[in-house]
Amino acid sequence: MHGSGSHRRWRLSASLLALYLVLALLPVTLAAVQGLEPRPWRDELATGLGLAGFTMLLMEFLLSGRFKRLSAQVGQDRVMQFHQVMAYVLLAFLLLHPFLYSLPMGETPPTVPAGEEWLRLSLWPGLSGILAWVLLAMLVFMAIARDDLPMRYEAWRFSHGLGALLIALFGLHHTLEAGRYSQDVWLTGFWVLGVLVAVASLVHVHVIIPLRQRRYPLKVVTVQQEAERIWTVELEPDTAAGHPGTVFPYRAGQFAWLKLERPLFRITEHPFSIASAPAQWPRIAFSIKEAGDFTNGIGELAPGTRAYLDGPYGHFTLDESDARPLVLVGGGVGMAPIMALLRELRARQSQRTLVVVQTNRDIAQQLYTAELEAMTSELDLRVHYMLSAPPADWDGLTGLPDATLLQQVVRVPPQDCVYYLCGPPAMIDTLEHGLLSRLGIPAGQVVSERFRYSLRTRRGSSTRLLAATVGAALIILAGVASFAVR
Ligand SMILES: Cc1cc2nc3c(=O)[nH]c(=O)nc-3n(C[C@H](O)[C@H](O)[C@H](O)COP(=O)(O)OP(=O)(O)OC[C@H]3O[C@@H](n4cnc5c(N)ncnc54)[C@H](O)[C@@H]3O)c2cc1C
Repeated sequence: MHGSGSHRRWRLSASLLALYLVLALLPVTLAAVQGLEPRPWRDELATGLGLAGFTMLLMEFLLSGRFKRLSAQVGQDRVMQFHQVMAYVLLAFLLLHPFLYSLPMGETPPTVPAGEEWLRLSLWPGLSGILAWVLLAMLVFMAIARDDLPMRYEAWRFSHGLGALLIALFGLHHTLEAGRYSQDVWLTGFWVLGVLVAVASLVHVHVIIPLRQRRYPLKVVTVQQEAERIWTVELEPDTAAGHPGTVFPYRAGQFAWLKLERPLFRITEHPFSIASAPAQWPRIAFSIKEAGDFTNGIGELAPGTRAYLDGPYGHFTLDESDARPLVLVGGGVGMAPIMALLRELRARQSQRTLVVVQTNRDIAQQLYTAELEAMTSELDLRVHYMLSAPPADWDGLTGLPDATLLQQVVRVPPQDCVYYLCGPPAMIDTLEHGLLSRLGIPAGQVVSERFRYSLRTRRGSSTRLLAATVGAALIILAGVASFAVR
């Protein structure tokens, strides 16, 4: 039975990719079947890139939306990576779009010599096209340079959503007014529907989810220091404030978006892995590291503070039909979802062989040591601690984890184990690369969770995803090229 989860995941990812390709190429197909006389290939290529690029732009809204099932099956970080790579591709398509035209542009003169064609581009559609084009370039630049921009993450996220919405609206106006093929009723319908779906996905995240959250208020019950600059916050349903007492339906290892005592519609929510197991409900715990504006104040939270959750999301979960040994590697606060998995396995009195490697810079950052120690007598569990800056008397592992180290600690053939990795992106990249490429572990046996959605921080297993994404981009380009030379 084991492996069925990863096959399901693979099948769903492949089907979604196929659906993405069909949708991206639908407008050029609808344009091609209109029977209009093709123009010079450069002009048709320019139009084809515009049609495909604008469709991909609308699909970006869905890729950055919140879909629990998609996130649980495919993994939120993979969806976000696809979103980011496709942003580069559609940017290239749409940046090229106006420069490839060879035909004269502007209002068609009253008398046009026979055989001469003009591009219908009057003032307003021209202006909306320029605005969409400039905003798109700015949006992608701000996404690439996000970490270096002197603005809060929340402000960036707000500007990203608003900018994308404006691009979609200006783009719609430009396409409907200036597009040669978009005068067709089917293509017009496609664009209007596409923009409505894009707007609906923004409304879902920023209006519907907050409204729904109102019905499930929680409150902070305890805040405890777990390690240096890491705090564990426990929440409970606030039944006095109207929470119906229903269970938050998560699986161990998943994450949720946490909002604390802020006006409901402000974008101040942050994703955190749930560190507790579902069996511990009505308590739900998060271990949070001080990393910026929001998290720096976490240690000062007062019990009773109102909290809201959106979730659960994520695929860092156990396949219950699988009994193979588990190797769980947690770097720093990346131990949080691993602790949730261990707590779940303890609650289920699991017989699985478990090896935990916790890696930190120094002893002050180690998490959950007492509970892990207690777990070794309840589970078939061995815990290894690794420090990159150990004190002189340290007798544990030293350095940074790699596949060779895992090979040494598992004591069974590494191919027989399933690996769960959570921690700094560089650690995950190194381990994924070693496990997949050097030890030949099948990708379905390596599950990882990254705490940052950034292309800059992804290598390792993401090369496969990157290859799939680049392949998809090439297929779209081939479709557009065949439209241009038809
Ligand atoms: C799936 C997932 C699970 C996570 N689990 C944990 C956890 O269990 N414990 C923990 O300490 N940290 C976790 N993080 C990281 C945590 O979300 C960030 O450290 C936190 O949001 C930083 O916010 P800040 O305002 O304090 O810092 P900032 O300085 O505002 O942000 C620092 C960086 O954190 C990221 N970030 C900030 N806000 C958001 C947001 N709203 N959405 C996405 N990314 C954001 C950005 O990359 C940003 O550059 C997780 C992140 C993800 C994506």
